[in-house]
Amino acid sequence: MTEKRRGKRPLFSVAVPFYNEQENLRALYGRLCRVVGGVGNCDFELLFVDDGSTDASLDVVRALAAQDARVRYLSFSRNFGKEIALSAAIDHARGDGAIFMDADLQHPPELIPKLIEGWFEGYDDVYAQRRTRGGESAFKKLTAKLYYHVLARSTRIPIQMDAGDFRLLSARALAVLRRMPEHQRNMKSLYSWIGFKKKAVPVDQEPRLHGASKFGFFRLLNLALDGITSFTTAPLRLATILGALSAAVALLSFCW
Ligand code: UDP
Ligand code: MG
Repeated sequence: MTEKRRGKRPLFSVAVPFYNEQENLRALYGRLCRVVGGVGNCDFELLFVDDGSTDASLDVVRALAAQDARVRYLSFSRNFGKEIALSAAIDHARGDGAIFMDADLQHPPELIPKLIEGWFEGYDDVYAQRRTRGGESAFKKLTAKLYYHVLARSTRIPIQMDAGDFRLLSARALAVLRRMPEHQRNMKSLYSWIGFKKKAVPVDQEPRLHGASKFGFFRLLNLALDGITSFTTAPLRLATILGALSAAVALLSFCW
């Protein structure tokens, strides 16, 4: 924002958390370069966050950084999970806005100019809204739909339906996220929680280019439970009520 006010070219950080994506990173970089090369009057940094990869992903990124001054990277000492990798990207992004996207090309880089358009219109959170979910099983599509409906019904905070991590956040949204103390972070919940002016941009999510998803059933279930419990105390209240009820029943049966 400050850059915008000074009348300089705005800088955008494209932030990519990755874990064992050696076959995808060069293809992603190539497509990113073509896209950002076509966006006039803006500067870009490409911020890669290595979430403890055990394959050659980090070597690929190091080689890219050696040849392209726009490329920066962070590297974790082990695999901490995507939410923490995203948090590190938020902490280290230097841009007037940061665009978050996956490394497997499920998030088409060609949407970036549309996201930036939203930033110029004054939106703080320009999020890609999945119109279709390419490369995902019928089971995942169904459970994702269910998740968003349960989430939307269990909280008064407005939920952005079918929105994932592919989005652009303004400098002030990033500043607020940096100040949030949560350690167990569910980023999608936090994006909704912080509020601000939000704009949806429809996207057709593509199938993963190479490899398999890192989120198996139990990891997704954990993420969904984190999402719901980070938004609402309803499960906690339900547990309290059930606890009180069973205590009352126990007491009554004891008296009887
Ligand atoms: N990822 C990560 N850390 C992990 C798991 C995944 O940084 O522990 C990255 C992964 O490399 C990709 C993004 O998060 O860039 C989304 O992961 P994936 O494609 O496996 O998830 P899905 O698209 O199936 O939900
Ligand atoms: Mg993926």
